[in-house]
Amino acid sequence: MYSNIMDLGEKIALLAGAAKYDASCASSGSSGRGTGFGLAEPAGICHSWTEDGRCVSLLKVLYSNSCRFDCAYCVNRASADTRRTSFTVDELVELTCQFYRRNYIEGLFLSSGIFADPDIVMEKLIETAKKLRTEAGYGGYIHLKIIPGTGEKLIRRAGLWADRLSANIELPTDRSLQALAPQKSGKVILGAMEEVAETEAQFEKDRRQIRFLPQGKTSVPVFAPAGQSTQLIVGASEEDDRQIISLSGALYRKFSLRRVYYSAFIPPGLPGRGGIPDPRLPDIPGPPLVREHRLYQADWLLRFYHFRPEEILDQSAPFLDPHLDPKTAWALKNLGQFPLEINTVDYEALLRVPGIGAKSARRILEVRRSRTLSFDSLRRLGVVLKRAKYFITLSGSSMDRPDDPRRIRRFLSDSDGAGLQLPLFEF
Ligand code: SF4
Repeated sequence: MYSNIMDLGEKIALLAGAAKYDASCASSGSSGRGTGFGLAEPAGICHSWTEDGRCVSLLKVLYSNSCRFDCAYCVNRASADTRRTSFTVDELVELTCQFYRRNYIEGLFLSSGIFADPDIVMEKLIETAKKLRTEAGYGGYIHLKIIPGTGEKLIRRAGLWADRLSANIELPTDRSLQALAPQKSGKVILGAMEEVAETEAQFEKDRRQIRFLPQGKTSVPVFAPAGQSTQLIVGASEEDDRQIISLSGALYRKFSLRRVYYSAFIPPGLPGRGGIPDPRLPDIPGPPLVREHRLYQADWLLRFYHFRPEEILDQSAPFLDPHLDPKTAWALKNLGQFPLEINTVDYEALLRVPGIGAKSARRILEVRRSRTLSFDSLRRLGVVLKRAKYFITLSGSSMDRPDDPRRIRRFLSDSDGAGLQLPLFEF
């Protein structure tokens, strides 16, 4: 009995460690806080944010770290010299329930290496989720990874038990997939996303129709109510930010994705990363974290500020500015469209002003109905005047508007070039 517990502990350490590089559930990466009591990461607990900004803890593990595929960027690839193990369905169900009952976690993120035919692997993930729901009475959040190559039927079944599904696109082009993950195919991955999107739409349609039936006659099961997400690795292949943002824009449009997660490529061999370098990978000193952060900000422009990918980057400037957030960079490139008169412009125009977020734009419209706004009232409404003041007027007067865009750029640049302290919201 005791040795079984020890075995399970080892499995958790191994299979949680092997899962931590998947960003598609937005792990906060709870590492690096010293050693000792209370560390969450070795037990596979990570933090993730819901759509409304709430932080939730997830048990993030692989079913198995054995894999037939040989993706160059992955610590679990077939050619990696690493210890292999797998959970059983019952072990995972028991573990999730125990962690959940003790309030360690609010949900499960379950992925797996491809240790057998993709359908067989996917069956294991589905069986775990189904057993949690039907036998263990588990009502927490479940995020299941769609194993590349899974058939349509199984994708549809997975969505009946999971809150969220994700198929990782991993790299922005087929060419890069061929070079770094030769067993994967963009067509197959996009096909899985399409299947999820179509099934979601079908269930939604059925649910709308069912509203007109007599009450209690029948019901439509829910399919992946938290939608689907994906992960893109940044910096392992040669594509520029323009290609990445265009791809994200297309994925949001075509497959109604809830989120694209960007994961800075961590070169193997770095402390804490493990794995040996692979000649297929670029030799970079460290993960491109600034680039990852700027891509998240650009992604925010797509999802909440109604920018089109081609407005953010074009062929003449295919990379995001490391020193400026992308909204400010866009505003400086389009200075002719400013200043905007805050007391009269519409919502869409307000969203284009650096320092005005969706929430403050809505508040401006609301307050403006009853009174004329002042700079002080803008501050109270949550506008970051430090950024906005160069782009706005209030009843014709401006707070500060240097004629030279280079001066504005200097004032708004992140001096260290990182910008990592900038909030992701309301920029
Ligand atoms: S399929 Fe590729 S990324 Fe996924 S576990 Fe296997 S080697 Fe890693």
